[in-house]
Amino acid sequence: MGRVIGIDLGTTNSCVAVLEGREPTVIHNQEGGRTTPSMVSWNADGDVVVGAASKRQMVTNPQRTVFGAKRLIGRKASEVQQLASRLPYHIVAAKNGDAWVDVAGTPRSPQEISAHVLAKMKRVAEDYLGESVREAVVTVPAYFDDVQRQATKDAGAIAGLTVRAILNEPTAAALAYGVQHQANQRLAVFDLGGGTFDISILAIENGVFEVLSTHGDTALGGDDFDRVIIDLLADDFAAEHGHDLRADSVALQRLKEAAERAKIELSSAMTTDVNLPFIAAGPAGPVHLIRELERGQLERACKVLLDKLEAPCAKALNDAHCTPADIDQVLLVGGMTRMPAVQERAVQIFGKPASKGVNPDEIVAMGAAVHSGIMGGELQEVVLLDVTPHNMGVKVAGDRMSVVISANTSIPTRAKKIFATTEDDQTFVAIEIFQGEHEHASRNRRLGRFVLGDLRPAPRGQTKVEVSFTMDADGILEIAAAEIGTGRAASVTIEASSGLTAEEIARLGNRLAR
Ligand code: ADP
Ligand code: MG
Repeated sequence: MGRVIGIDLGTTNSCVAVLEGREPTVIHNQEGGRTTPSMVSWNADGDVVVGAASKRQMVTNPQRTVFGAKRLIGRKASEVQQLASRLPYHIVAAKNGDAWVDVAGTPRSPQEISAHVLAKMKRVAEDYLGESVREAVVTVPAYFDDVQRQATKDAGAIAGLTVRAILNEPTAAALAYGVQHQANQRLAVFDLGGGTFDISILAIENGVFEVLSTHGDTALGGDDFDRVIIDLLADDFAAEHGHDLRADSVALQRLKEAAERAKIELSSAMTTDVNLPFIAAGPAGPVHLIRELERGQLERACKVLLDKLEAPCAKALNDAHCTPADIDQVLLVGGMTRMPAVQERAVQIFGKPASKGVNPDEIVAMGAAVHSGIMGGELQEVVLLDVTPHNMGVKVAGDRMSVVISANTSIPTRAKKIFATTEDDQTFVAIEIFQGEHEHASRNRRLGRFVLGDLRPAPRGQTKVEVSFTMDADGILEIAAAEIGTGRAASVTIEASSGLTAEEIARLGNRLAR
C-alpha cells in the first residue's frame, strides 16, 4: 500500500505534508515554497498553469486565471451572486444551477479547478517521496456542508486521488498540536484564512480528541481585508482624479496585489508605501498611485471585519458549555492571524495569549498527515471524535424543519425517524432532506429528495416507514429505509440536486491525467 498524504486545500494557499516516522513533515513545492497558491490559469494554447506561476499571470491574464474556487465549490450560482460582482472572472450557472466559472468561453466546475490544485500537491509529494501517491486526507472548513464535502471528494477523484478522509481544518490543527502536547486540555482553534473564519472548541482527554463545538463565517477572510484596502485606495484616488480604478480589470488586479502586499507588510511594519505607477491615463498623461499607508489606518478601516470575529467565538464557547477561562490553549491558524489586530482580538475574546510554536500556514496540513497516520495505524494512541456542523433533517408540513441529526453531534452517527403515509393506498413517499439551522426547511440548504417506493397499499397513516440517516466520519450522509412491520427494505432513490455525475468525474479525470 502506498503512502497517504495530508493536503490542506486552502482558499488561497494549499500545503501538503506526510508522516515521516511519527513526525508530520511539510513538503516544499518545485518552486521552493512550503505553501502553493490555490490558483489555476488556462493559457490561450490550452496549457494549464497552477500555483505561483498562475499567481504571476493574474495581472496579464485575469479572465483565464481562477482563484478562490473553494468559495464556489458545492454552491449554487444564485448563492454566490454577491461574490460574483467583485471577481475578475465570470461565474455561470451549470445545468443543475451549480456555480461554475467561465474560463475564456469554457465553463469549468470548481471541482475541476480544485482538482488541478490537488494534482499539483500530489506531484509535489511524489517528487519528494519518489513513488506514486494514490490516497490523501483532505481538509475542509468545519462549516462545510454535505454538498461541499462531497464536491471536495470529487475534486480528489478527478485528480487521481482517493480521498481517504475529509477532515475539518480546526480538528487537523488540534491534532498536530495535540500529538506533541498530550496533556488533558481544552483548545480553541481560531482559523482566519483567505476566505473563511472557523472557530472550534476541542477537548483532549487521555489521547481522545473531541470536538465540542464548531462555528464560523464562510464569508470572512483575508480577501475581505484586501477589499477594504482596495476601496480605501480607490476611493481616495477617485476623489483626487475623478477616476474609478475598480472599473478597469487590469488596474483592479494591480490594486489587489498592492493591497495584499501592503496588508502583509503592515503586520510587521507601522507604515508601508503603495507604489503603482501608470495606473491610469488622465487628460494630462499617465497618472500614478503613490502613497503611504499606516497600520492604524488599516486597523480603523477593518474594524467592522474584526468585530465579526466575536459572535462565532461566543457561540462556539456557549455550545461547548465553556467560558473563556475554561480554555487552556488558543491556536492561531491561517495567514491572517499574523495581523497584530487579529491577534489582539483573539486575546480579548479568550483572555489569554495564543500558543507559541504553531506555524499558522502549515499546521493544518501537518494535522492531515497525522490523521493519515492514525488511519494507517502508525499512530495508535490517538482517537478522533469529530462533530457535524449543521442540523440535518427533513421538511414536514408547514415547511417546518424536522431535525434528525442535530448540529454538534459526534460523528460517525446514526439516527432514525418514522414517517407515516398521509393518503390511502399510498405506494410511495417522497421526502426532502435539508441541512441548516433555520426552523423553516426552505430557508436551509436542500441536499436532495428521496423517494421510498414499493410500499404495501393500506389506509392512510397505517403504513409506517423508518428512515435512518447515517453520517460517516467525513460528514457525508447516507440514507436507508424500511417499512415497519414487514421489515421490508423500501427502495430509496436519492435525487441529488448538486454536484457532478460519476461520468463527468471520470471524463474530467481522464482529461487531467493526459
Ligand atoms: P487559506 O486557508 O484560505 O488558504 P491562508 O491561511 O493561507 O488561507 O491565509 C491567506 C491569507 O492570509 C491571505 O489573505 C493573505 O493575504 C493573508 N496573510 C498571509 N500572511 C500575512 C501576514 N503576514 N499578515 C497579514 N495577512 C497575511
Ligand atoms: Mg486555511
